[in-house]
Amino acid sequence: MDCIFCDIIQRKSPAEIIYEDEKVISFLDIRPINYGHTLVIPIKHYEDFVSVPADEMNAVINVTQTISEAVSKSLKADGFNIIANNGAAAGQRVFHFHFHIIPRYNTDNFHFRPILKNYKNGSMKEIADKIRSAVTK
Ligand code: 5GP
Ligand code: ZN
Repeated sequence: MDCIFCDIIQRKSPAEIIYEDEKVISFLDIRPINYGHTLVIPIKHYEDFVSVPADEMNAVINVTQTISEAVSKSLKADGFNIIANNGAAAGQRVFHFHFHIIPRYNTDNFHFRPILKNYKNGSMKEIADKIRSAVTK
């Protein structure tokens, strides 16, 4: 299986590694939205958010919190986004789960521009019922 992130973990591809432990690695995104845009990933290859086991996800989230603070403070960001794209439809291009940490600046002129929908009569409950019936815990 070809995976650029597994190659980075195995040092077959170069990267600016920010942090590594036995479960998690973090490195700079090669095509940043803003400089310092960082990725945090489990060492083991899992495709997306839902396929990462809980203990490894906890480790990934803890590191994401630590690295967010480091990125934000060291680069004097005004804020930051944490994003995970899941599935090609959502913009996922590398199918090894990762969080993006994107430092943000008041002046960076980067906007998400969603066209927001309105729920029609009764459809909000219908959608909520569908989701509630699929919750596995
Ligand atoms: P996705 O679209 O899957 O959420 O994000 C994948 C990210 O991985 C992109 O932001 C892309 O710039 C980054 N990326 C792709 N290939 C490489 C690489 O070889 N090295 C690094 N450091 N980042 C990469
Ligand atoms: Zn991988």
